[in-house]
Amino acid sequence: MKATDISNPEYFHKVVDCQYACPAHTPVPEYIRLIAAERYTEAYIVNWESNVFPGVLGRTCDRPCEPACRRGRIEEEPVAICRLKRVAADNKGDISSYLPEIPLIKNGKKIALIGAGPASLTVARDLAPLGYEIHLYDDQELGGGMMRSQIPAFRLPESVLNEEVGYIIDMGIHTHFKTYVSSMKEILEKDYDAVFVGTGAPRGGDLPNLPGRWDAKEHVHIGIEWLANVAFGHIEKIGKKVIVLGGGNTAMDCCRTSRRLGGEQVTVVVRSPFKDMKASPWEIEDAMREDIPILNNMPPKEFVIENGKLKGCDL
Ligand SMILES: Cc1cc2nc3c(=O)[nH]c(=O)nc-3n(C[C@H](O)[C@H](O)[C@H](O)COP(=O)(O)OP(=O)(O)OC[C@H]3O[C@@H](n4cnc5c(N)ncnc54)[C@H](O)[C@@H]3O)c2cc1C
Ligand code: SF4
Repeated sequence: MKATDISNPEYFHKVVDCQYACPAHTPVPEYIRLIAAERYTEAYIVNWESNVFPGVLGRTCDRPCEPACRRGRIEEEPVAICRLKRVAADNKGDISSYLPEIPLIKNGKKIALIGAGPASLTVARDLAPLGYEIHLYDDQELGGGMMRSQIPAFRLPESVLNEEVGYIIDMGIHTHFKTYVSSMKEILEKDYDAVFVGTGAPRGGDLPNLPGRWDAKEHVHIGIEWLANVAFGHIEKIGKKVIVLGGGNTAMDCCRTSRRLGGEQVTVVVRSPFKDMKASPWEIEDAMREDIPILNNMPPKEFVIENGKLKGCDL
């Protein structure tokens, strides 16, 4: 047997399965112990240091830590690691004294961050305490990226998002909101020492070649664009009968949002078998609990149009 190599920090990561499975390597046992001792503020800060948005993640994380949890091997369910993050966030006190101090005298380096989603905000959070002057560009009015524009408010209340984005913006970040960066050359010509591009990957799936797709196009929506229109208040209702094509988490957000906007008969249609659906099991459960049937193994063949009106989908 090979000797254990404790000079490799990965060894210590791997010892705690849930911590290793978390992409941010959040020290899960440490913050759960603090919660057990009712030290919610400190538990929140342990999370904040690792994953930046504990209140957001306590509601929305895809929780790869939970399948890795050892309790799952001997009990029916793993420890509810994700929701415990929310417990700390909801019960914490004033965290201001725990936040890093922002130096008044800067280190002379200026950084541009393009996009104000979680990626750029994390860079801002990590560099501002080191004395960097941070300039944050985003075409939207507020920071948050897809956390604000795509994750529905019934899963992530705006107040939680504003609070956690605010902790970062209040670190003296120079914000340039409502500013679309259309030329990298222009940014590079400014006197930034480094530029971070955190513009995301905002392209939804379409079925451009499915017969009928363009014959009633005002009634056929792309998931992530439709969710953004709902988030920004451009869409407030939907017809009574809704078909959601797709089996990922975006589809689950779309069907549950449709329910809330007046959809009475909302059906999800998935090409794959139920067990191969991409959506997380808890997202599927939540949709089914809202009486949304999921029809599987049904690749859509065409949009059915009668007299110029969308009537359904041939499966
Ligand atoms: C429907 C849906 C639900 C999701 N649910 C979850 C979930 O429950 N849990 C989870 O962990 N993740 C979820 N995600 C994924 C998560 O939102 C993304 O992984 C995350 O937001 C990506 O962060 P980012 O900073 O890379 O980019 P984004 O969040 O996309 O932010 C990029 C920002 O850059 C701005 N921008 C782009 N181009 C320019 C430009 N040229 N000039 C200026 N600004 C620009 C955009 O407006 C945006 O504000 C979901 C995604 C979708 C679509
Ligand atoms: S809930 Fe998410 S952020 Fe928290 S420990 Fe698990 S994977 Fe990491």
